[in-house]
Amino acid sequence: MKIASISVYQVNLPLEHPYWLSGGRLKFEVLDATFVKLETDAGITGWGEGTPWGHTYVPAHGPGIRAGIETMAPFVLGLDPRRVLEVERAMDLALPGHLYAKSPIDMACWDIAGQAAGLPIADLMGGGSRTPKPIASSVGAKTLEETRAVIERYRARGYIAHSVKIGGDVTRDIARIRDVESLRNPEDIVLYDVNRGWTRSQALQVMQATQDLHVTFEQPCETLDDIAALSGKHAAPVSVDEALVTLQDAARIARDGLAEVFGIKLNRVGGLTKAARMRDIALAHGIDMFIMATGGSVLADTEALHLAATVPDANIRAVWACQDMITVDVAAGRGPRNMNGHLHLPEAPGLGVHPDEAALGAPVMVYK
Ligand code: MG
Repeated sequence: MKIASISVYQVNLPLEHPYWLSGGRLKFEVLDATFVKLETDAGITGWGEGTPWGHTYVPAHGPGIRAGIETMAPFVLGLDPRRVLEVERAMDLALPGHLYAKSPIDMACWDIAGQAAGLPIADLMGGGSRTPKPIASSVGAKTLEETRAVIERYRARGYIAHSVKIGGDVTRDIARIRDVESLRNPEDIVLYDVNRGWTRSQALQVMQATQDLHVTFEQPCETLDDIAALSGKHAAPVSVDEALVTLQDAARIARDGLAEVFGIKLNRVGGLTKAARMRDIALAHGIDMFIMATGGSVLADTEALHLAATVPDANIRAVWACQDMITVDVAAGRGPRNMNGHLHLPEAPGLGVHPDEAALGAPVMVYK
């Protein structure tokens, strides 16, 4: 089987509400999505998606995905998409780095490999837990009252996992954490996500002031060096998200004990093939995982769900449904959708959901 053509589509995915991160430093209103269709000489078609969360969140650039595919396409055409490692090496040779540009092609190859094998991607990868995965909410509110109201709205829809966005104001952060913890249900999975918003000193102030609560903080500061500098000075579990990009990052975090949780976002780390190695490093070091899309449609959420299904249930904390935050649905209600705050693995071979081509418009580029 050979990859015969690569069609590239660009779609704007508007967010239902403007979204602020990192104590109001970063605002997001629309996501620049790239969809990729790989056609093979065997008649099997695979789909991939690469949707960074804007271009200010991490070093990933929507137009950069399309430019990267232009560079990599001649190296990928003609390869057998079922040999995902060969495709991965070809992309890494053609374009070192730029992991986010590679994830849609990697995803489409796994989709084809699953269809060819007659298996959902998760089963093909050797996993395949059917336990519904809790979807993490995204609580971007500012005041105590707003935070309570947003969490209540999510709870009413079945959510048990909450990612409460903090950072920016130490006193307010401490007050919000204490308030959320006072209302926490026993089954709740709560993460306080700083999105790099604190300096080292701010991080220590909040982490020390809330030490009795034993809550988990995600990406408290900008870099792994910052997070390393905090270790030993607080007792809080840490999740690393934005600073977990390469396998070397994962190895360092595990070896140096910088985090108890990995936040693996598929587009950022370069797709399923590379993320699966991070999963294994995590499991080998007793590190739990949040696995999710960086952003995007039901396709991106489904890709993350497949990887999450290859992790033992005890080691996966939550997934995400970015699809619920955007106003465009490229797959008309098909694929895994939010059911009482959970996503269920699709049983169809491959990814299990393809977009409506009419919803994508004409391809912006076709490589043959
Ligand atoms: Mg995060």
